Amino acid sequence: MEILKRTVNCGALRKTDAGKTVILNGWVHRKRDHGGISFINLRDRWGITQAVIDQDAPAELAGIASELRNEYCLAVEGKVRPRPPEMVNPDMPTGEIEVAAERIVILNRSGVLPFQIDEKTSAGEDLRLKYRYLDLRSFAMQNRIRLRSEVSFAVREWMTGQGFYEIETPTFIRSTPEGARDYLVPSRLYPGKFYALPQSPQLYKQILMVAGFDKYFQIARCYRDEDARGDRQPEFTQIDIEMSFVSRDDVLAMTEGLFGHVFKKILGVELPARFTRLTYEEAMERYGTDKPDLRFDMLLHDFSPWVEQGSFQAFKDALGRGEADRKEAAAKGVSASGGGVKALVVKSGAGYSRKQIEELEAQAKIYRAKGLAWMKVACGEGSPFLEGGAAKFFADTAGAPADGELARSIITGLKAEPGDLVLMVADSRRSVANTALGAVRSKLGRDLGLVPGAGQPAAGNAAGPGRFEFVWIVDFPMFEFNEEENRWEAAHHLFTWPQEQYHAVLERDPGSVKGDLYDLVLNGYELASGSIRIHDPELQKRIFSIVGIKAEEAEKKFGFLTEAFTYGAPPHGGIAPGLDRLVMLMAGETSIKEVITFPKNSFAVSPMDDCPGDVDQKQLDELHLRIVKNE
Ligand code: ASP
Repeated sequence: MEILKRTVNCGALRKTDAGKTVILNGWVHRKRDHGGISFINLRDRWGITQAVIDQDAPAELAGIASELRNEYCLAVEGKVRPRPPEMVNPDMPTGEIEVAAERIVILNRSGVLPFQIDEKTSAGEDLRLKYRYLDLRSFAMQNRIRLRSEVSFAVREWMTGQGFYEIETPTFIRSTPEGARDYLVPSRLYPGKFYALPQSPQLYKQILMVAGFDKYFQIARCYRDEDARGDRQPEFTQIDIEMSFVSRDDVLAMTEGLFGHVFKKILGVELPARFTRLTYEEAMERYGTDKPDLRFDMLLHDFSPWVEQGSFQAFKDALGRGEADRKEAAAKGVSASGGGVKALVVKSGAGYSRKQIEELEAQAKIYRAKGLAWMKVACGEGSPFLEGGAAKFFADTAGAPADGELARSIITGLKAEPGDLVLMVADSRRSVANTALGAVRSKLGRDLGLVPGAGQPAAGNAAGPGRFEFVWIVDFPMFEFNEEENRWEAAHHLFTWPQEQYHAVLERDPGSVKGDLYDLVLNGYELASGSIRIHDPELQKRIFSIVGIKAEEAEKKFGFLTEAFTYGAPPHGGIAPGLDRLVMLMAGETSIKEVITFPKNSFAVSPMDDCPGDVDQKQLDELHLRIVKNE
């Protein structure tokens, strides 16, 4: 077959090219017939050019033109000419010209399309994933995959410029725990033994520090076998980074430099040289989450100063029980936070219906709140007062309207105004009050559209770049208590350095220990996690023991690491920003599937190649595996 090779791509021709004879290769994006003239929009990665088969075209050309359908793959040879003024399309870079076709070669035909290739496809997810090659032909997908490629390049450019080596680590490893289940690969050579796919290159990058490489990075694939939920993917990509002889602030500054470079270069957005920092405690107290979206305020207030003077028994009980728990814990030498009553003010929210408030309450209950109390701020003769819901508990005298000193102190304290709605959660565990009200805040942010430009494509979009609010969360608790299993777990991973001042109380009061660990949050999404690591074998063993890993098991699983630490391991730390999330946020998308070329669907399945799939009995035999089917 004759392949007429292109002399120019479909996005390149301008008015100044008029008169040139060119060859284009591409796909039929749209075809229109107008009174004997055919217009073909020919598309490739770079753009669309209009080819025209004139009325007086030779019969053979007209015959080919009549056969063309969307997504036929063509070569078109012809002469560039200016479009008649009334046909100029200012929205297309090539809109001032067209190519008068003299020869068309059909390089391949296309079947009936399952959906139209367009900027916005209305096809369902599984259909898009089954025909991903067609979905990827859309400019929207092409632009996102281009963005991803550019981001990866900018990352490499910056990291290499800063003296980092890009070093690969193996995909077949001994398990690295990051808190998820491993994907396992059975060993054919060693029956009954398995490789694990890395949940992250964590242990290898630490070993690379022991090996003296000092500054490492890798754009690394990570595999975590978690229940398909939300926007999770079984495999995802991390910009994995590790550095020697550094403190937390060195890692933070390096990361700020990296993002500053990437955002400036790709989106033309100037990020602040230093990102806002919040301690974990501040984030929880003010936003009720360790992934706060700083694009809107609506902060959580501490309502406890008014509980004692009021008569809301549920609030008093929550604080009373919390205090009793705290004292009991203290008697055992363990710290506990006590109870909490938190409030937030919805500006101009007094018009909320009971049903709307119930919806917010349902959200709070998902996060274990017992209820969501509310009251409204109204305007009285001269001074505002509280009404509705819980307002009656804050009257100066029982049965009177809540317009006295107590109500005024609440209104001023919360910086509320007439027309506002006050929402409150009380719990004997302060963390529950914070988290539940934080979830209400996030829902309100979405429902009320408090985030200007949210959901707008940020890259290459006429509306301009979106808003990017980065925030570091630092001083996280080192351990979390797993109530189901009745044991302490590492909040990040087992290799995080507990802050020095807690080393003496590690075993006695794990709940009080803060780790030298940090998260980077962007617009409410966790973009990166990292920590300063343990490099002392004895301290590492203590951590294993606190989370209930027996010495023997620790030796078997991580002996190589603790042994490596005995050979002059340097102090080190690192971080791992998620590449998929980064590109998703830069593209103004809300799902990482939009920026992964071949993602799995929400059930961890790839509809295109029907994966995971069956394997032959022979393969199973070679791997010494037998499938036991559950009846
Ligand atoms: N390995 C960690 C993770 O994947 C990141 C880090 O600590 O550098 O979450």
